[in-house]
Amino acid sequence: MTAALDPEARRADLTTNLVQVQGRIEAACMKAGRGPQDVRLIVVTKYFPSSDIEVLCELGVTDIGESRDQEASAKMASLPPEVRARLQVHFIGQLQSNKAGSVAAYADTVHSIDRVKLVIALDRAATAAGREVGALVQVSLEAGASAGAPARSVALRGGIPLDGVGEIANRVAAAQHLRLLGLMAVAPQGVDPAAAFATLASAARDLRADHPGATWVSAGMSADLESAVANGATHLRVGSAILGSRPLLG
Ligand SMILES: *Cc1c(COP(=O)(O)O)cnc(C)c1O
Repeated sequence: MTAALDPEARRADLTTNLVQVQGRIEAACMKAGRGPQDVRLIVVTKYFPSSDIEVLCELGVTDIGESRDQEASAKMASLPPEVRARLQVHFIGQLQSNKAGSVAAYADTVHSIDRVKLVIALDRAATAAGREVGALVQVSLEAGASAGAPARSVALRGGIPLDGVGEIANRVAAAQHLRLLGLMAVAPQGVDPAAAFATLASAARDLRADHPGATWVSAGMSADLESAVANGATHLRVGSAILGSRPLLG
């Protein structure tokens, strides 16, 4: 019998894991000389049922991340209204322009803006939904990536190479119903995440020079959150360390 079938065991697991991750964040902040309130935890609930989101909400979690529109929209619709009302929903996955309308209806922020076409589609969708959506430009930190010659992995994982960030950021800033919040990145596999996050921090400083309100640095996942905190991340996206391992496909 798995924990998911036993609500009490599942609640106990989520509680333990959440406390452990909060402890890791506090320790990392202490080490970096940062206040724990400078770093926000986004719990990534993709592949896990809305019952887990309800438990997390009761445990004080206010920010959740989802990466697949169909799954996320169904889960948001199934939550009790009082739970839903307390949540900030972050869309962190690769997003197709034709899903922008759906995502704009429930997401408070989209972390994965990496092309002008998506800026246009999301702004139009936010306008139609009568709301403002927070937008982060996703940066690809893969070695050798450049806007002219994107690495293959860029196409697979999303993100705009560093030399393309400024243009997308300007388009987001000019959009009527999007608010430019900052940058997001996933550390490339097989390299020291600290180097990647330091590069991201430097790009975030450059961005703030042009757009002072764009203060978010969304970086750090279960395996590398300490490194992200040490390098100035303001938002961590943590899934498996809290929810457990995900199914390989789904
Ligand atoms: C799934 C996902 C995460 C969470 O990853 P974990 O390793 O499970 O913490 C963070 N960011 C993005 C973009 C993701 O897709």
